[in-house]
Amino acid sequence: MSDCVFCKIAAGEIPSKKVYEDEKILAFYDLAPQAPVHVLIIPKEHICCADELNKDNSAVVGYIFSKLPEITKSLGLENGYRVVNNCKEDGGQSVFHLHFHLLGGKKLGLQMA
Ligand code: AMP
Repeated sequence: MSDCVFCKIAAGEIPSKKVYEDEKILAFYDLAPQAPVHVLIIPKEHICCADELNKDNSAVVGYIFSKLPEITKSLGLENGYRVVNNCKEDGGQSVFHLHFHLLGGKKLGLQMA
């Protein structure tokens, strides 16, 4: 989508500090970290939010989770981490391109980070 900031990051039109990239997904550091390690993992395909997932577009979610062990090891998160998705307004979503927050680097409490 032409006006989507994460589509622009995926296309390399907006710079990001990349952690992992392949043909389907991109992981990059969040601009406003809420934990010692705060990375966003996105599908390169534009999917607005979790509420837009369906049988035709949801395989990438499993793919993202299948890459978590590799990505988290590269970030030194062997002790554990949290994955969060905010969905739509009431879920606190501010960027409407599906993404998962990967948070870690400390013992997390009950708050998101
Ligand atoms: P959410 O509130 O769940 O939609 O999360 C959006 C996240 O994207 C926030 O944590 C922002 O700090 C982060 N963010 C927004 N723009 C950028 C950007 N250009 N590069 C990295 N992170 C960003």
